[in-house]
Amino acid sequence: MRGKIYLASPHMSDEGYEMKYIQEAFDTNWIAPLGKNVNEFEKELATKIGIKASAALASGSAAIHLALKAAGVEQGDIVFCQDLTFSATANPIIYQNATPVFIDSDYETWNMDPVALEKAFEKYPNVKAVLVVHLYGLSADMDRIVEICKKHNVVLIEDAAESLGTYYKGKHTGTFGDYGIFSFNGNKIITTSGGGMLVSNNVEKIDKARFWATQARDRARHYQHSELGFNYRMSNIVAGIGRGQLNVLDKRVEKKKYIFEFYKRELGELDGVEMMPVNEWDEPNYWLSCMILSGKVRPLEIMEALEKDNIESRPIWKPMHMQPFFAGYDFIGDGVSEKLFENGVCLPSDTKMDDEDLNRIVKIIKGVF
Ligand SMILES: *Cc1c(COP(=O)(O)O)cnc(C)c1O
Repeated sequence: MRGKIYLASPHMSDEGYEMKYIQEAFDTNWIAPLGKNVNEFEKELATKIGIKASAALASGSAAIHLALKAAGVEQGDIVFCQDLTFSATANPIIYQNATPVFIDSDYETWNMDPVALEKAFEKYPNVKAVLVVHLYGLSADMDRIVEICKKHNVVLIEDAAESLGTYYKGKHTGTFGDYGIFSFNGNKIITTSGGGMLVSNNVEKIDKARFWATQARDRARHYQHSELGFNYRMSNIVAGIGRGQLNVLDKRVEKKKYIFEFYKRELGELDGVEMMPVNEWDEPNYWLSCMILSGKVRPLEIMEALEKDNIESRPIWKPMHMQPFFAGYDFIGDGVSEKLFENGVCLPSDTKMDDEDLNRIVKIIKGVF
């Protein structure tokens, strides 16, 4: 069998930046828990995206959880959550005993449909927060989403787990709302093996999030706790990987874009193929290259043909309102997320691929057609 091609796998720097920072942590015995790498990673990421404060956490999921907590989301509160996403977006709403209402996507952005969002506010005037996602590194239409949230005086949280390196009208995704979150899970555009970041221009709230993330330990000689705490901080070793990876983020975005353009050139003209939408205001990180099929060829045929040649591909995320666990919650929309799920394919987008790999993939897909 030929060499395996992954959907998206960890890609450490050729220069060995990550090992340098890890070695530094070993040399100074700052293995755990916090230390220079954590502090510097927070600062470097905040500078890179243009935001005042950030807290390095154990995962993107933990960051969403603390964003909801910082937003004051509590038992019984309603949160409008993008329907088309990974379950990690929605799960923390349940951790807070709050109630998600799922909002459909539109075809123009694949992300939260502003029209469906407005409609949701008519049905539920009392909402605590809106949780928008920048799926596959494509930005949501932030001007319109921000405007609606301001009008209704609701906290906006951006799940930018997949969109580090994505800019909307020149401004980095994750910096439009009250809170933004990033993930450094293994298949994201940069990875620390696992980890996340909560960001905000509200410095006090980020300080508070750091406090909750370190078991909510009060300032006292003894162990004293006035609030519920979590063990959510990133370790100093993991942060070292993050610092190294941040150095190659731009390079990764460049390669992801190259991969997308390659597919678009080779597959974009095939019958019934439409590549994911790239709007004129969007500078995506192209985390995954995705396409929608409207002709005779179905996503499963493509995925199976690729799998036979040891190549990974995936369906589009299955919408939350179609998930058995979330079936009891309301959904506002017209079935766009469902259609994207049924007709979409995520193509291999590993930045370690070369042209030979890309030609191998394209040839198989053309063969199915
Ligand atoms: C990966 C991902 C998360 C979760 O991040 P983890 O670091 O894996 O907890 C959340 N939302 C989206 C959209 C993701 O893709």
